[in-house]
Amino acid sequence: MMNFVLDAIETKKRGGELSGGAIRQVVEGYTAGEVPDYQMAALLMAIFIRGMDYDETLALTEAMADSGKRYSFPDCVDKHSTGGVGDKISLTSLPIVAACGAPVAKLSGRGLGTTGGTVDKLESIPGFSSHLSEERFRKQVEEVGLAIMEAVNLAPADKAIYALRDTTGTVDSLPLIGSSIVSKKAATGAGRLLYDVKSGSGAFMKTPEEARKLAELLVRLSESLRIEASALITSMDEPLGSAVGNALEVRESVRFLRGEDSPADLSEKTRVVAAHLLRPKGVPENAVEEAISSGAAYDKLARFVAAQGGDAKALENLPVSSEVRKVAAPRGGYVARFDALGVGRAALLLGAGREKKGDEVDPGAGVEVLVKIGDEVEEDQPVARLYGKRNVEKAGELILEALEISGTMVERSPAILESL
Ligand code: URA
Repeated sequence: MMNFVLDAIETKKRGGELSGGAIRQVVEGYTAGEVPDYQMAALLMAIFIRGMDYDETLALTEAMADSGKRYSFPDCVDKHSTGGVGDKISLTSLPIVAACGAPVAKLSGRGLGTTGGTVDKLESIPGFSSHLSEERFRKQVEEVGLAIMEAVNLAPADKAIYALRDTTGTVDSLPLIGSSIVSKKAATGAGRLLYDVKSGSGAFMKTPEEARKLAELLVRLSESLRIEASALITSMDEPLGSAVGNALEVRESVRFLRGEDSPADLSEKTRVVAAHLLRPKGVPENAVEEAISSGAAYDKLARFVAAQGGDAKALENLPVSSEVRKVAAPRGGYVARFDALGVGRAALLLGAGREKKGDEVDPGAGVEVLVKIGDEVEEDQPVARLYGKRNVEKAGELILEALEISGTMVERSPAILESL
């Protein structure tokens, strides 16, 4: 047992403030395996109940960022989404941003959830690798303007603490979430960051008020660490776009970047995110539109995929599962709810995501939703397509549970709720 941890537990238990030095000592001790889980769990619960003020939260963020490798890409931009079902905005917006001349160096983690993270989605492209040496990554950022690799040893303290939080009921604490996210982003070293904080049934933050508090904290912590930052609060009551699943989401992104008909929410959010990332670079307002319509953004995606070993030709024929089954509307009316979480769970059952670390993802599996909140549907009209062989019956049931059809007209909430 470590006495300095006991002191920290006693202080926090009584609502006191922890010094920056004490926080760093605990974080370093826990990462080195010297502080036992039971003490760290007690401290996390005390923090969960008593909270942390801004200085404590910043000290925790810095200590966790310093626990592993710190990269530096001061001229690069990056975005972070707090996670959502069908969220492929990195795939659609970053090639646009890079095509407009702002270099992107994205160090990404793997998803543990209903679908994979950005790296899992990209790896559904035959040949694509997210394992690059730092030297090759840097060279690609310089030559192509866009590189995305799996980050190893980014904020290992956060990784260990997050795993403990997950099993001790201490995840949903604002200072712990804020410090966890910003520690990883600070370690990636981008000079400018946009946070896309989701609000809604399929998100961590269930209400716009909770999402705003997190967004404000993420921006403030980043700016204290000399990262230029802004945030959007966006809705996550229904899946983003239509596709949920790795190859399916890449396919939808490719179609968008090729200027094909795309869901309105995907199209709007992509444009707003790209414009936000480009704003401080003084890029003209019409550059985003120009990059899409000229094909420059799609070309950037294809060049980036090829640079990382992917078959750029395969972008036109991605390996989505050939096992497809439709789910039909049980009655006619208006779509009142198509719960993101429910659709995400269906995709997970089909094999699109990982229930636990190490689970095998089926890159071709997932769901396509064919209707959005507010749409009018007829009885028996297809509302979703299921891709994949695993648990198809159960996934179909989850889709129907996620769907609510009303007899009266329903209005959709806007895709972008707020911009900070
Ligand atoms: N995402 C993170 O990276 N950390 C949290 O604590 C919650 C969501």
